[in-house]
Formats: sequence, C-alpha cells, structure tokens
Amino acid sequence: MRRKLSDNIKRIRDRMQQACARSGRQLQDIKLIAVTKTVEVDIIRNVMESGLLDLGESRVQTLIKRAGMICEHLSRRRKLEPENAPPDPNWHMIGHLQRNKVRMLLPWVHTIHSLDSLRLAEEISNEAQKLNRIVPALIEVNIANEKNKYGIAVGAAVHFARSIENLPGLKVVGLMAMAPWAEDAEKARPYFVRLREVFEDMIYEKVVGPAFRELSMGMSNDFEVAIEEGATMVRVGTALFEGLS
Ligand SMILES: *Cc1c(COP(=O)(O)O)cnc(C)c1O
Repeated sequence: MRRKLSDNIKRIRDRMQQACARSGRQLQDIKLIAVTKTVEVDIIRNVMESGLLDLGESRVQTLIKRAGMICEHLSRRRKLEPENAPPDPNWHMIGHLQRNKVRMLLPWVHTIHSLDSLRLAEEISNEAQKLNRIVPALIEVNIANEKNKYGIAVGAAVHFARSIENLPGLKVVGLMAMAPWAEDAEKARPYFVRLREVFEDMIYEKVVGPAFRELSMGMSNDFEVAIEEGATMVRVGTALFEGLS
C-alpha cells in the first residue's frame, strides 16, 4: 500500500511539474492538499509519512474525528521515536461549513476554504478570537453559477471581501472554486481563468491585504489546467488514492 501510494504521489508531482514547466511556474509555489475524505486513517498516516502534511476534508465531523486520531497517533509516535515522527499536519476544511459547527471545528482546522457568507465569517472571527487565533480563510466563489454549489456569486466577491475586511479573527488569504465536472479537463480552463480574474480584481480594488495570495483550484481531474492558470493550492483525492485499499 505504501509503495502504491508513493508511486501515485510521484506521478502527481511529475504532472504538477510538467504543468509548471508549461506555464513558467515553480513547483514549490504550489501546495498539494491531500483530500482524505474517502480513505481510512491508516492510509492518512501513510500519506503523512510520505511527506504530505496538508490534508483536506469536506465534512466537519470527519475532519475533527480524524484530526483527533492523528493527533493521538503522533503523540504516541513521538514518545516512541522522537526523531522519526512526522510534524503535525495542517487540516484544510474544503467543504461547506455551517455556522453551528464552527466552534467545534476551529481547534482542529488550519485553513478554511469555504467562506461563503457574512454570518459564517462573523462566527469564525468570534470563535477564533476566543482561541486567540487569526484563522486563514479563502472565499469560495461559485464560479460557474451552479445552482447546486455553494459560494459567493462572481459579481458579489469584491463587495463580500469588503464586508469582512475588518473582522479581527479572520484573515482572507485567497479564493477557492470548483469547476463544473467534465470529462475533458480543458472545459474547466475558462472557469479557472475567471477565478484568477476575480482574484486580480480584488487586489486591484484593494479590498484585500498582502496575505491574499492563494488560488485554491484544481482537483484530480483538472489540476494541471488549474496550475497553468495560476492555482497555488490543488486539492487532490481520487488520483492520490487510486489502486489503494
Ligand atoms: C472531494 C473534493 C476534492 C477532491 O476531489 P478528487 O476529484 O477526488 O480529487 C477537492 N475539493 C473539494 C471541495 C472536494 O469536496
């Protein structure tokens, strides 16, 4: 299993590297987030041992449960072999987040990719302050204006960013979007281009600070196109775990 996982990681890194080469970018500027929602905790441990420490989950309960289990595992490992244990992972919340789950999520989460309402932003900021934290968050944009997807409308993104600008417990670090599913990854390109345009508009309008640098876009099916169009974070699940378990 470990072997197969390493092969998958290597293959994904190679493809990321080639996408970088095609677009004059550097591999180290792009974070690979391992989306672990479909695999068991023993595989997550192997992911971490393989050096991937950015982990994504789309449901609060699952994130909390797994983060807790990994945390226990790591403290045990550190007692047994302090030199070899991997560092703590960074958990990314990539799915829709309800306000009433913010409090239990915050102690575990590093970055939230799914900021999609003012009230959610306020709740995150309030709870973060209680923990003395400033939580990095990305605004989710409903880039293809799909009915069944969450996210701020393209035309409302600048206004939304302005409305949450002064929340003390929250730092807006970028934008996140999902392209509509399509077999052909090229179909995703115009959506990634559009997200980058929204990103640049927000910088131009000065509604965001210097920490605003991340474009979280691209999944198993379309991460190379996303990288060519400026992604700084790709969220990959299926391609990472194919052939495992
Ligand atoms: C599941 C999920 C992913 C990963 O999708 P794959 O196609 O399995 O790579 C990325 N982003 C979000 C928001 C997801 O829910």
